[in-house]
Amino acid sequence: MLFAAVITGLSVGGVKLYNRFFTGTGESTAVTEKLKAIEIPDWIDEQIIYVHNTARTGTPLDDVKNIVIHYVGNPGTSAQNNRDYYNKPSTEVSSHFLVGLDGEIIQCVPLWEKSAASNWRNNDTISIEVCHPDESGKFSDVTYESVIKLTAWLVNNLGLDETDVIRHYDITEKLCPLYYVEHEDAWNQLIKDVGEKSDEDFD
Ligand SMILES: [Zn+2]
Repeated sequence: MLFAAVITGLSVGGVKLYNRFFTGTGESTAVTEKLKAIEIPDWIDEQIIYVHNTARTGTPLDDVKNIVIHYVGNPGTSAQNNRDYYNKPSTEVSSHFLVGLDGEIIQCVPLWEKSAASNWRNNDTISIEVCHPDESGKFSDVTYESVIKLTAWLVNNLGLDETDVIRHYDITEKLCPLYYVEHEDAWNQLIKDVGEKSDEDFD
């Protein structure tokens, strides 16, 4: 029976593989159950990182009160580069999602677990790290579109609204995401765009 279960686990490929690595407390809270019930759409590439110290501890989220937007701060690096970095045993940071230079979206941490991106708010936030072509930290158009789509999808599925979308800066005053801290108007537009997108019917 055990052998059969292992084969079944592998046969679903990358999609549900993270269940094998889930090392939560075993206590199934209402929050965990709610987050586990959210189906990840096929435009999100699930590449869940291994459970290892700090980057992914397997600790369940206490709640989801905000979605936190970050920039990777390393111009020109891809979503895949950053995801693979999170997966290294020595790495101490991670985010739930990475949005790449071509608009690709990679999920790195299960929705119901803590990521390691937003300091003392890791326990009740979902994190999105965004790739950018240059030092300004401005997202390219195609990347921006994906940030809006992903964030609107999260807002809809988590029972939040666009005013619950915040910057890393709003937690720690770190200049992250840089361009959207230095350009308050661009940040306000992003929030507005999330609100409009979340009102649309999309899968
Ligand atoms: Zn940040």
